[in-house]
Amino acid sequence: MAKVTFAAASVSATSSVGGGGCVVYLVWRCMMAKAYRSAIGIPGGSEVEKCFYPFKVDTYGCGCPHNCLYCYSRSTLEWRKLWNPDDPAVASVADIESTFLAALDGSRRGRIADLVRARMPVRLGSKTDCFSKTERVHRVSFRLLQLLREHRYPYLILTKGDLLADPEYLDVLDPSLAYVQFSVTTPYDDVAATWEPGAPVTSLRLRAIETLRSRGIHVAARICPLIPIYPDGHYSQTPSLCDPLNVFDWHLVDQLADAGCETIIAGFLRLNYYNNNRRRIVAALGFDPDYLFSEEIRRRNDALYFSIEEKRYYYETLRDLTHQHKMAFSVCYDGDEAYEVFRYLWDNPNDCCNAPFSPPRDLFGL
Ligand code: SF4
Repeated sequence: MAKVTFAAASVSATSSVGGGGCVVYLVWRCMMAKAYRSAIGIPGGSEVEKCFYPFKVDTYGCGCPHNCLYCYSRSTLEWRKLWNPDDPAVASVADIESTFLAALDGSRRGRIADLVRARMPVRLGSKTDCFSKTERVHRVSFRLLQLLREHRYPYLILTKGDLLADPEYLDVLDPSLAYVQFSVTTPYDDVAATWEPGAPVTSLRLRAIETLRSRGIHVAARICPLIPIYPDGHYSQTPSLCDPLNVFDWHLVDQLADAGCETIIAGFLRLNYYNNNRRRIVAALGFDPDYLFSEEIRRRNDALYFSIEEKRYYYETLRDLTHQHKMAFSVCYDGDEAYEVFRYLWDNPNDCCNAPFSPPRDLFGL
């Protein structure tokens, strides 16, 4: 298997393709590497103002083996033929290390260097899962965890995998530096296997949460996306006559509490006519989720999302159930229009992630 390095993009890729197909393959990998310009970054737009942990590292790019039906990254890259869940682009750990070391020893200038020197907690996994089965092969995230431990650098991990519960990963996770958020969207293994086809099913994620908690690691669960079970208005206006959609149930909160979670963070499903995630759901499930959304929203023919009042019912119910188990609750960034509306539901008003460390927000002028 040949290894090709795209030095300019700090990304490497592996290829087993030979003959004439090789040239086409290399061109395509170059396009992927270009799309995945840098493993380290800060988002633009309103995300940097709204997200408390916008400083990110993605150890893989242009593909995530979990291949979730609703994935936003998949939607933006698939139509450009740049989404490769089976063989994503791989970041160079040497480049990540040199960026961190040059910032820490003062030889590097710039915004990222300032964040590193201020020990802004870094988020592992924004456009992909850094701990998917690709990591089992390339181990870039493992080496990054070693680096972060060596430099006593705080980090936050978002994952749908169970790799972190493997003994060698457990040994490198540091309870005083790590905050791990497991995305768990459904209580049902068969639903997880359909909506998140490449990811370990719910019961495996719950077992991973239990293992990390037994080692003293801070763990939250993200019910993101929170998939509604009735059409919009069922709880906040008029009960619908439809049967509930068998994707989500409130007893997910009991399961997460039993696994030892400390915090639950919820964020509502959003679909889009143009970015393919609705079409993928129709193809995979054999029904159109369109009926869940109000007529007014459907008429706009754009993003599909629920009304504030209906979302409020789901969030407040989840918060109450979460508090019954003495866990903390929060709402993740829910579109610009609802961000401030649901701030009262964050148990930590200074951090919607409710992390064990404080993000230096002043670094972003906030
Ligand atoms: S785990 Fe996240 S990045 Fe990976 S496919 Fe699912 S939603 Fe996309």
